[in-house]
Amino acid sequence: MAIYDIRTFGDPVLRQRAADIEDVDAALVRLADDMIETMYEAPGVGLAAPQVGVQRRLFVYDVGDGPGIVLNPRIAESSGEWTYEEGCLSIPGLSWEVIRPKQVRLIGTDLDGNDIDIDADELLARCFQHEIDHLEGVLLVERLDEEQRKDAMRILRGRALDLPAGERIGQATAQSSQGH
Ligand SMILES: [Zn+2]
Repeated sequence: MAIYDIRTFGDPVLRQRAADIEDVDAALVRLADDMIETMYEAPGVGLAAPQVGVQRRLFVYDVGDGPGIVLNPRIAESSGEWTYEEGCLSIPGLSWEVIRPKQVRLIGTDLDGNDIDIDADELLARCFQHEIDHLEGVLLVERLDEEQRKDAMRILRGRALDLPAGERIGQATAQSSQGH
């Protein structure tokens, strides 16, 4: 097992759409294991492949019921509304109240090629939506309202000017508690 550095805001890899996964090979299985390890180390409740610099449609999660791995995920249905203080491991130390659908139905496959079909609610549903955003190159800051976003950009621009990259990564480990 290996721990990846988690890419942070400003890294262009976080802004690109990840590619569909056609074949599962040993390298992909190892990647998934290492992503789970990296997620626990951070610690966070979800981690998408672009956050470790890999442009493939895969994420891992654990909201307290054990780890899961989903390939080529998509939201088939969503309903309701839920407000939650949402953070992101790629935007360490910050979080915002964000409204998103409360329930989602997630479709995808596992590492063995079996279909995954999960009806998720609240935190798990939020995690799935957040990770799929990462696979589309969409960051949490794009889900904020105008005022939140202005605040966020001011803080993030300040960080980019003040801190070398190494310190930003150190801060991620120290401050993130509910990141994705
Ligand atoms: Zn995130």
